[in-house]
Amino acid sequence: MNRTANYELTILVPIYNEIEGLEPLGKQLSSFLPTAKKKSCVLLVDDGSNDGSLEGIKQLCKERAHFFYIQLAQNGGLSAALKAGIDYTDSPYVGYIDADLQTAPEDFNVLLDFVEEYELVTGVRAQRKDSFFKNFQSKVANSFRRMMTNDGATDTGCPLKIMHTDLAKQLPLFTGMHRFFPALIQLLQGKVKELPVQHFPRETGTSKYHLWNRLWSPFVDCFAFRWMRKRVIINRIADENVTESAKNKLN
Ligand code: UDP
Ligand code: MG
Repeated sequence: MNRTANYELTILVPIYNEIEGLEPLGKQLSSFLPTAKKKSCVLLVDDGSNDGSLEGIKQLCKERAHFFYIQLAQNGGLSAALKAGIDYTDSPYVGYIDADLQTAPEDFNVLLDFVEEYELVTGVRAQRKDSFFKNFQSKVANSFRRMMTNDGATDTGCPLKIMHTDLAKQLPLFTGMHRFFPALIQLLQGKVKELPVQHFPRETGTSKYHLWNRLWSPFVDCFAFRWMRKRVIINRIADENVTESAKNKLN
C-alpha cells in the first residue's frame, strides 16, 4: 500500500517533456482537488523526460498538497507511463488526464457520477479543438478500430477517463494499449460509459504523436486484440478457502 490508498481517486498524469505546461497543470489540478466529488490525489508520471520536467514535477509535489510522482528510468510511451501509474495506484478508482490540459480536470466530476456503476467511464471530445488533419486521422482510426473490435467506443483517445483500479491492474500490457481501454475493459467483462467533455487546443509544448504512430501501430494492434479476444482466460472461482474471509470454512 502507498499514500494513494488514503484517497478514493488517483489522477494519473503522464508527462514527457512538458516543462512549459507544468505550472498551469499544477494550478488547474490544485483548484480541482477540493471540489472533487470523491477525495482525489494526483500522481505525476515522468516518462523519462529530458527537458527538466522532472525537477518541475518534484517542485510541484513540494508546493502542493496531494501531489505525488514516480519517475520512469527511460521513455516508454503513453501506455507504459499509464501502466506504471496504475501499478502504483492503491485507491479504488484511477483516473487519467494528459499534461497538456486539452481536457479539463473539472470534468472528472462529470465522470465521477457514473464510476460506481461502470468499470470504465470515459470522456468523448464533443467539439474537438485539434487540426483538421489530426481530427481526420483520429476519425479513420476510431472507425477502423470500432469495426475490428466492436468496442462501440466513439473516441478512445480522449484523455479523460476513470477506471476501477482492480480491473485496470488486470489489463493486458502492450505498447498502444491506451487506445484499447474500452475494448479491453469489456474483454474483462466490465461496463463502459461515455460522456461528452470539454476540449481545448494544446497551449504549451508539442504533440508527441504523428501520423505513423497514430495510424500504423493501432492498425496492427486491432489484429492483436482480435487474437487476444479468442484466447483470453477469464477464471470464475467457484470455491476456495485461501482468503481471510473464507479461512474458517473447512475447520
Ligand atoms: N506522453 C508520455 N510519453 C510519451 C509521449 C507522450 O508520457 O512517450 C504524454 C504526454 O506528455 C502527454 C500525453 O502523453 O501528457 C499525450 O501526449 P500528446 O499530447 O503529445 O499526444 P496527442 O494529444 O497529441 O495525441
Ligand atoms: Mg495532447
